[in-house]
Amino acid sequence: MKCKYCKKIFEDDADVVLNYFYHVDTSHYDSLTDNEKIMHDVRKKMIKSKTDYEVHKKTTGDSDLIFNSKNSDI
Ligand SMILES: [Zn+2]
Repeated sequence: MKCKYCKKIFEDDADVVLNYFYHVDTSHYDSLTDNEKIMHDVRKKMIKSKTDYEVHKKTTGDSDLIFNSKNSDI
């Protein structure tokens, strides 16, 4: 897909929506209309809470792994 605000092309992979979102966030936030900014901020919060959850899950999983491997050494 192509950026709405510049000539940058995004490859159509699983992360294209997120990549485009972050690109707009860093490069074109000032070009958004007031309404679009509101929508953008809502999505940003949703993405952030999802990312926090996944990071938390990963951290927990990793510490479980360390715990388990420590245990199996004994
Ligand atoms: Zn752009």
